[in-house]
Amino acid sequence: MRLVIFGRQGAGKGTQSKLLAEYFGVPHISTGDIFRAAISAGTEIGLAAKAIMDRGDLVPDDVLRGIVAERLAQSDAADGWLLDGFPRTPTQADDLDQIADPPLDLAINLEVPEDVVVERISSRRVCKAEGHIYTANDPSARSGICEVDGSAVVQRDDDTESAVRHRLEVYAEQTEPLLARYGESNRLVTVDGAGAVADVAGRVVTGINDGLAR
Ligand code: AMP
Repeated sequence: MRLVIFGRQGAGKGTQSKLLAEYFGVPHISTGDIFRAAISAGTEIGLAAKAIMDRGDLVPDDVLRGIVAERLAQSDAADGWLLDGFPRTPTQADDLDQIADPPLDLAINLEVPEDVVVERISSRRVCKAEGHIYTANDPSARSGICEVDGSAVVQRDDDTESAVRHRLEVYAEQTEPLLARYGESNRLVTVDGAGAVADVAGRVVTGINDGLAR
């Protein structure tokens, strides 16, 4: 199973991706998580990406191409993968067509209205070690300690209001147009991302099964 998940920031891509990857037994590959890990580790890529990410801008396509090609070549991705946060531009979509062998099966579009996502992002908290996602009222967010791995639970540097608004603009301009491309090749499944996590997950799995059957 080779999947890509699309959705504006705060649509629940990270949460749904983790569930989906487990369900289908494929690695969840989030390019945002890869950059955040690189920043924590202080690598060269991390240092270069930090300022770009904090502004809500996109890291250059050629950097992404190298990272994704390397990650998809790892042994755990041999039988499938779920990409979250890539592709985000037409060039990245071209790159994925070249890198993915066998090719992508389906793109999932998690559809959540803009006013709902702004609200969700402002209350989003993540743990520093593994990126477990919480809302501001969850016990782990209130204590500041992740209940799964014990690391600090914080607000992402790019979840400030101005960066969020900018990221939504960038998504609308650069990424949303890619949906048409996957629609044209009959590889797009659009799912209503509003509501409880488990309900959305059920709709996503149904959508994928329908998408694969057609
Ligand atoms: P995300 O966690 O997917 O929201 O990504 C966080 C940030 O990482 C983005 O706002 C970008 O700055 C950077 N990033 C992640 N994936 C990509 C990508 N495919 N292309 C360019 N920048 C990316």
